[in-house]
Amino acid sequence: MHEMSIALGVVDIAEKAFRESGASRIESITLQIGALAGVQLESLYFVWPSAVAGTALEGADRIIESTDGQAVCLECEQPFALKHHFDACPHCNSYFKNIIAGKELNVKSMAFIMDESPQPAPSNN
Ligand SMILES: [Zn+2]
Repeated sequence: MHEMSIALGVVDIAEKAFRESGASRIESITLQIGALAGVQLESLYFVWPSAVAGTALEGADRIIESTDGQAVCLECEQPFALKHHFDACPHCNSYFKNIIAGKELNVKSMAFIMDESPQPAPSNN
């Protein structure tokens, strides 16, 4: 189940950004996952609670934006929607295509909650 390693990778990215932000907690994280990224969302949802337990992401909202697969046929040059990597062009049935969208697997954005109390200024000595 490689969704666990994906989730742990997201946790790494989030914790690094969180430390650099100086925020008090993470309100939400938005992931962009393409239809062709090879991620089973059900599996990702299943492993998520154990992946984020005890990390900066624990309790943060998880928002998934899924993007559809898009390809341009290399034979007839028509764009078409792709559900699977191996789909043929619906116009000419060619399997030669250039996939232009749907393989995304990104942390798109995160929302931080900053501490209300003033932070002590960093000391230079
Ligand atoms: Zn075609």
